[in-house]
Amino acid sequence: EAKTRGRGRYEFFDVELRERVQRQLRLEQDLRDAVPRRQLWMAYQPVVDLRSMRTVAVEGLMRWTHHAHGNISPGEFIPLAEESDLIGVLGDFMLTTTTEELARQRRRRDIGLTVNLSARQLDDASLVPAVEEALRRTGLPPRALCLEITESALMREPETAGCVLRELRGLGVRLAIDDFGTGYSSLAQLWKLPLDTLKIDQSFVAALGEPGESDAEAIIRGIVTMGHSMGLTVIAEGTETARQVEILRDLGCDEAQGYHFGKPQRAAEVFDNLP
Ligand code: C2E
Ligand code: MG
Ligand code: MG
Ligand code: MG
Repeated sequence: EAKTRGRGRYEFFDVELRERVQRQLRLEQDLRDAVPRRQLWMAYQPVVDLRSMRTVAVEGLMRWTHHAHGNISPGEFIPLAEESDLIGVLGDFMLTTTTEELARQRRRRDIGLTVNLSARQLDDASLVPAVEEALRRTGLPPRALCLEITESALMREPETAGCVLRELRGLGVRLAIDDFGTGYSSLAQLWKLPLDTLKIDQSFVAALGEPGESDAEAIIRGIVTMGHSMGLTVIAEGTETARQVEILRDLGCDEAQGYHFGKPQRAAEVFDNLP
């Protein structure tokens, strides 16, 4: 009896696994056509200075509206794109779309742009020329553009990543480390990288203001102190409440983004209603 039940369980896992693999294969195929079909678009989320409480930049976040499955999270399709060599195409789309949009917006106000790079893009020799070309075509001042790399992506190949970061820095763009606190950085390695900004992972911010979560506050205080002593701007991600904003200001955090200030939205909706 136990044997039958055991087998039933394996079959159940088999079916689940097969369905998951099939969905991924289908999505990977559909992703190839997503750019020509115009299913990809960029959402923008405000980044707010905690002293002036004004929007100083927007983060561009990629969105995929699939014809059958609706909105698919970048958490799902970015890894697919990385596995299937589509990340270059998506990265080009992202960079072109966001820099053009920002150049348009900067005719009205002084505002910066920050975008995400994946680990695979750092290995791609065409990245640096693509960034250079985007700046040239749009006429954006390089300091208006910030490129984010997650801490874990940087730590995969710290030496190689360091070389690419120095080349990018040579173009005059800013560099940020994303999801800081989750990637087991060696501080000795981090110290050598040409960084401008630390983005504190939202898991620490989410715990702020929760009863019995004084650790999160201590960790953020530590990151802010370390970041400032390295001359870096410190940004908190995932800020959802007024209380969190208050604590972050008290801790000396420079900037914040999150649902409290605004969700990532289409350009038309976000740029006319900036905090
Ligand atoms: P990330 O760069 O760390 O972006 C922050 C994520 O937190 C975004 O998820 C954003 O929508 C979400 N978020 C913002 N404010 C809040 C908040 O107050 N509460 C909560 N719970 N979440 C908040 P999203 O858009 O699903 O993106 C997930 C990740 O996918 C990004 O993390 C980034 O690593 C990656 N990604 C997004 N767009 C791109 C892209 O164009 N290229 C690459 N390579 N990766 C991208
Ligand atoms: Mg980011
Ligand atoms: Mg992040
Ligand atoms: Mg993230």
